[in-house]
Amino acid sequence: MGADPWVLSHTTWKTVRGTDYEIAVLPWGATEAHNLHLPYGTDNYQAAHVAAESAKKAWAAGARVAVLPMIPFGVNTGQLDIRLCINMNPSTQAAVLGDVARSLESEGINKLVILNGHGANDFRPIIRELQPTCGVFICTVNWWNCVDPKPYFDEPGDHAGELETSMMMHLAPNLVSPLSEAGDGKAKKFKVAGLREGWAWAPREWTRVTEDTGVGNPAKATAEKGKKFFDVATTLIGGFLVELAAADLGKMYE
Ligand SMILES: [Zn+2]
Repeated sequence: MGADPWVLSHTTWKTVRGTDYEIAVLPWGATEAHNLHLPYGTDNYQAAHVAAESAKKAWAAGARVAVLPMIPFGVNTGQLDIRLCINMNPSTQAAVLGDVARSLESEGINKLVILNGHGANDFRPIIRELQPTCGVFICTVNWWNCVDPKPYFDEPGDHAGELETSMMMHLAPNLVSPLSEAGDGKAKKFKVAGLREGWAWAPREWTRVTEDTGVGNPAKATAEKGKKFFDVATTLIGGFLVELAAADLGKMYE
């Protein structure tokens, strides 16, 4: 058996045919600019690492979890004027998710967790549409907000801010440029009050909102903060996977 049979990309058929996998986890990221100091793959690194570590913890508790290869493109319709941001429309995501879920269904794996790593990916309406015609129970987790970040960061930020920068300093420090090279992530707010206050919503035109593509100041980021948040988030998600693996899909309500 491979060293980490919960990561499908590292796993052979010899292991797979001998393992009664109960849940698949699909990390889903984005390819986009992250201020001047973090790489385009930031959301992908985070989603893949959070998925793998959560699955490792769940596996240690007896749950048989398979983390599928990460999908690297997210919804980036507001960043089409930023070079090499790659957009995948929600309708394409629906088609991809449907194919993945139906593959699992025909193979007898009936639980799928999307581990989302990008704020503009919203799988809820996609799941609502897919669920009635698919025998796989599908749910979605945004890893960055399953734990309240406030106790862990001075100013978590929205995009390439203190939270994401700290996570990347912990997970992939060789890919993080010195903070002295980062912009301050200053973002303009909507003039219209309802949109500014967040109870009305419209997507933001990114290059009109921020000059360095960041939203949130990364200045106080540290690898230690990232490690703490990573540990607490993966422990929570790992526990969720254990509970979901044991859940009877016919008896999901109290
Ligand atoms: Zn990000």
